[in-house]
Amino acid sequence: MPVKTIIEPFRIKSVEPIRSTTREEREQLLEAAGYNLFAIPAEAIVIDLLTDSGTAAMSTAQWAALVRGDESYAGSPSFTRFRESVEAIFGFRHVIPTHQGRAAERILFSVMCKPGDVVPNNTHFDTTRANCEFVGAEALDLPIPEAAEPGRVLPFKGNMDVERLERLIAEKGAKRVPLVMLTITNNSGGGQPVSLGNMRAVRAVCRKHGIPLYLDACRFAENAYFIKLREAGYAAKSPREIAREMFSLADGCTMSAKKDGMANIGGFLCTNDDSLAQQEKNLLILTEGFPTYGGLAGRDLEAIAVGLNEALEEDYLHYRIVSTGYLGEHIARAGVPIVQPPGGHAIYIDARSFLPHVPPEEFPGQALAVELFLEGGIRSCEIGTLMLGQHAKMDLVRLAIPRRVYTQSHIDYVVEIILEVFGRREKIGGVALTYEAPFLRHFTARFRRLGGAA
Ligand SMILES: *Cc1c(COP(=O)(O)O)cnc(C)c1O
Repeated sequence: MPVKTIIEPFRIKSVEPIRSTTREEREQLLEAAGYNLFAIPAEAIVIDLLTDSGTAAMSTAQWAALVRGDESYAGSPSFTRFRESVEAIFGFRHVIPTHQGRAAERILFSVMCKPGDVVPNNTHFDTTRANCEFVGAEALDLPIPEAAEPGRVLPFKGNMDVERLERLIAEKGAKRVPLVMLTITNNSGGGQPVSLGNMRAVRAVCRKHGIPLYLDACRFAENAYFIKLREAGYAAKSPREIAREMFSLADGCTMSAKKDGMANIGGFLCTNDDSLAQQEKNLLILTEGFPTYGGLAGRDLEAIAVGLNEALEEDYLHYRIVSTGYLGEHIARAGVPIVQPPGGHAIYIDARSFLPHVPPEEFPGQALAVELFLEGGIRSCEIGTLMLGQHAKMDLVRLAIPRRVYTQSHIDYVVEIILEVFGRREKIGGVALTYEAPFLRHFTARFRRLGGAA
């Protein structure tokens, strides 16, 4: 009999204390923060599920690599190790380091797009959309229609709607589509993977019209593992082989090393196009730095070089996907409505179904996020009417799991707190804005509570 218990495939060498707080303290903290979890000091959080970005615990191998970081301005051997590590997995001709993913996006769109262009994506991440729109191009989301149904279970719910892509290109003309992007996994769409079959179909459409295909590769390793688990013909392949196959279909990628780079900062831009690479490096020098460091310290490049390989280790990926699913399944089993199936890096609670008596204009996602903090000091993130305004199709609360940081007992605690809040959901009221900034209001908004729970 194979052993059924899945253990964290690491042991802990260095620890950070978690300070617990009383309900009264949390009530005061919330009041002082205007019921905005971004304004709560991190040391007052019990379990921080705000984001999986830059929050990973580094390995002993990464810390060791950090120490040999070479801080030469040009030609650092740390860059050579970084480039070799990226090349071995991603396989693109040019590797351009950046301080994080959005810097790669800004450079890519500045070089490839002009006003009036259209960039299709399965779903643009918010920084991707903002950088695309900043250069005057239109950022278009073309997810498969089932992606909008939270309860619908599909193996590859992150896929792009290929027919809509064809129609879009026919309508706008290929000249107005400078590139097509696929976000793997689809973060804004619930952390759902894209299949290799879908990538090939999108690739074929792009080829036919001479349009380059780029991957937003932030969670490439998690996507590769979902393919191994769910796509016919890939069960015997290693995540690395699958990743190589994914990238072989693309002309380039943007990457945030704060996700599957297992690093606390960093990113890169890749391309196979020599002339684009030259323009991109020129822009890089202008704002990020020389092409052998791109805004990063040599030690950061070392940490990423090691982290990319660790993210592809099968026992790590197994633990990662299973432990995220564990949280989703345990709350869903008790009736908590979540985006199905569980994503790779996060669980998304459907706050509109959780609090059906709270209308979208009273921010059910924010109200629920506030309750999770009040009940157990858990910090989550609203993705709904507060963050997206009128465009929000759903009101979700994202519980993003930092890599290698929390153990199963931490997650059991999170499950218990969520179920506690679920049990008293009928008494929970909405919230009303008392302050909002003109843009990206979710970061600094302040609220008051509308009746409901005591
Ligand atoms: C995080 C993220 C980005 C941006 O990366 P940063 O490192 O935060 O700038 C882009 N796309 C996706 C899908 C992301 O998750």
